[in-house]
Amino acid sequence: MADELNAKFASLGIEDAKAKEIMKNKKVATALGEIIEESGASGEQQKAVVALLQSLATKTKDCKDEAAKANRKLVSRAILEGRLKTNVQVDAAWKYVETAGNESNDADLDKESGVGVVITDEQVAAAVDSYIEANKADIEERRYKAVPSVITGVKALPEMKFANPASFKPIIDEKILKLLGPKDERDLVKKKEKAPKKDEGKKGGDSATTNTRSMFSEGFLGNLHKPGGNPQKYEERMKEHLEFTGGKVFTRFPPEPNGYLHIGHSKAITVNFGYAQYYNGKCYLRYDDTNPEAEEEVYFRSIREIIEWLGFEPYKITHSSDYFDQLYELAEKLISKGLAYVCFCTPEEVKEQRGASADGKSKGGERFACSHREMAVDKALEEFRAMRDGKYKPGEATLRMKQDLSNPNPQMWDLVAYRVLNASHHRTGDKWKIYPTYDFTHCLVDSIENISHSLCTLEFYLSRESYEWLCDAVEVYRPAQREYGRLNITGTILSKRKILKLVNEGIVRGWDDPRLFTLVAIKRRGVPPGAILSFVSQLGVTTSTTNIQVSRFENSIRKYLEDHTPRLMMVPDPVPVILDNLPDDHFEEISIPFKPGSPEMGEHKVPFTKKVYVDRSDFREEATDGYFRLAPGKSVGLLKVPCNIRVTSFKKDESTGKVTEIHAHYENDIPFKKPKTFIQWVADAPSHGSPVKIDEVRLFNQLFKSENPSAHPDGFLADVNPESETVLKGALIEKGFHEVKQKSPWVAPKSAEEEKDGLRGKEKPGAPEAVRFQALRVGYFCMDSDSSDDKLVLNRIVTLKEDSGK
Ligand code: ATP
Ligand code: MG
Repeated sequence: MADELNAKFASLGIEDAKAKEIMKNKKVATALGEIIEESGASGEQQKAVVALLQSLATKTKDCKDEAAKANRKLVSRAILEGRLKTNVQVDAAWKYVETAGNESNDADLDKESGVGVVITDEQVAAAVDSYIEANKADIEERRYKAVPSVITGVKALPEMKFANPASFKPIIDEKILKLLGPKDERDLVKKKEKAPKKDEGKKGGDSATTNTRSMFSEGFLGNLHKPGGNPQKYEERMKEHLEFTGGKVFTRFPPEPNGYLHIGHSKAITVNFGYAQYYNGKCYLRYDDTNPEAEEEVYFRSIREIIEWLGFEPYKITHSSDYFDQLYELAEKLISKGLAYVCFCTPEEVKEQRGASADGKSKGGERFACSHREMAVDKALEEFRAMRDGKYKPGEATLRMKQDLSNPNPQMWDLVAYRVLNASHHRTGDKWKIYPTYDFTHCLVDSIENISHSLCTLEFYLSRESYEWLCDAVEVYRPAQREYGRLNITGTILSKRKILKLVNEGIVRGWDDPRLFTLVAIKRRGVPPGAILSFVSQLGVTTSTTNIQVSRFENSIRKYLEDHTPRLMMVPDPVPVILDNLPDDHFEEISIPFKPGSPEMGEHKVPFTKKVYVDRSDFREEATDGYFRLAPGKSVGLLKVPCNIRVTSFKKDESTGKVTEIHAHYENDIPFKKPKTFIQWVADAPSHGSPVKIDEVRLFNQLFKSENPSAHPDGFLADVNPESETVLKGALIEKGFHEVKQKSPWVAPKSAEEEKDGLRGKEKPGAPEAVRFQALRVGYFCMDSDSSDDKLVLNRIVTLKEDSGK
């Protein structure tokens, strides 16, 4: 039997060693023998063909049924005829015959197993693209560690079923490189998590907490290079750099002063200022003012104030425009090195040169250089100076860098370095008629300011190459640009243009309307800076974009406020309660802690008298099961008051049906029994300063109805929630409010995140929004900036619980 099989194998040219191996598995060997028999295979066969037959034998080793064996013949013939070329195809073919049974035929078998299907590299590339797009966040997060899963993932795509898997890897490698850039320090395979080094550069280093990992010592920021660790083309430049910085971290926060900062910027601020502070370095506030047309003084001031509010102090406040002279010199240097030219092409022509059709609609063709690219150095210098001296009008000439049109990165296709703008600049006045672009300015100013870590958001990823190219081209110190994921809030809009529309249409009362997510709005609404810092810290920094729902943001704020705010009794919709059995002049002082369980927050006294106010929602005309608040005959506790009260009667305004007065009995004549509920109250005791009247309480809900207002078919304005703000008039609050106001900003303990990150917000004494408290059983509130000496306006910061108020 064995000899017979061996002879069969030999007849197909299977070598002895191989035959021996096959013989090890009796069943498979037998099946293979049968297959050779059935198919009439003879003559020497290629190794690949034998391997496929062997794999068919493995699959069918238990096959006894004659009909099935006949079908197997269809498959083995297809292998021998070279129609089936891969294991995947053999699998598919066998599956087909198993299902089709005696209906099986060659034509269908071919169809089901992809015979003759040719998958081109372009098709593979397209599949890889869509796979990467769909899994971008994960890939960006795991970077090169994600590559094996990308290969498996692409292989598993149905349209790639019959593709040659060998073609995947090179295509995937190329795409990943484009997405992630070359491997860097984040891609080092770490043996073990670094043990946090004690006191490593940490400011103030409280030893009790130095070994808690911070957002700056883990994740994206924890993996950044040490100062001096960024490679240079010119080694000498690193020496000069380190001499200037003393080996310290130098970062910058570079806002464009063309609008108010929004919630996303709080991440950029925390990342840049916080990282420098954590490692004992310095952070510049640099106004990126190269677009003179869009800049306004209010934005400069507002940006500075928000940074201070978040507790950061810039090392220096600079402007890109401070360096216009140096930048100009570097531009001439670039031209002198033959690496820039003055270009007179129109934007449409440039588009075409970059391989797009002029209208940008169709794909266009090859990239090509324009005739100006070959301009002689002298001529280019002369023309650039002519640009500077006003010979050309805006749009007529630009200075373009001579980069690398064959590079797949569009940021290398001869970017514009300077353009003509007939605009006066708020700092340099009419001195310049030409202004440098972001691409030219950003890296060079980073270099001039000796930035060790140029941290920016992901959309600049492709700019990294041009950033490094330009620094090297003009032979200056080359900072390291590293990109992290943006922070976005969903269910709202952040775009300047759209917010302006809301303001202009009167839908919100200004850029700082508490329903918006600009930082001035969040501040006005009463969110403390420490809550923002904790929020950013909790999210951490990675290379993926973080999309957060408004409700999640609010939850984080709520948690912070829970630990950090004093409590007061407020009655939004007051109804008087007369305690009939108390004498008219009854007066008691009741001590109330500002926060139960936090004696360090202190306590305060409020008067308790014959007439008190309670909230309308705490009273019902009839008692029902499961209802524990005020109703005729029910006993309820008033918070911190020694005895309970029991409702005896009430009066109603017949025309409105509203309850106008409740009468109750103060149960000081029976032993105290813990009530089911305590409610908040405010005494009517004008001679003791109670109650404090609130002119307006503004209750905010989400400004938009959907999670994605911009996607509304009729435009985002159609998605505005008509109930985004409700105003209550006539609310009352206890007199403890005065003390909360006077002591604000309330000195509260650091949050866990502030503690480990070394961060601390900084609110100004007298700032209305810093007067904040929890109104017991109602919500968190602060004073609005519309308040004055004789008008008190409160904002609801957040509700007490996630869903109430919606
Ligand atoms: P927007 O277009 O949203 O107004 P921007 O990028 O134009 O923002 P800049 O003034 O240029 O605003 O931003 C200053 C810095 O803040 C930049 O480094 C930018 O990367 C960063 N930044 C902007 N938006 C976000 C965001 N959503 N999350 C994190 N960082 C951000
Ligand atoms: Mg910008």
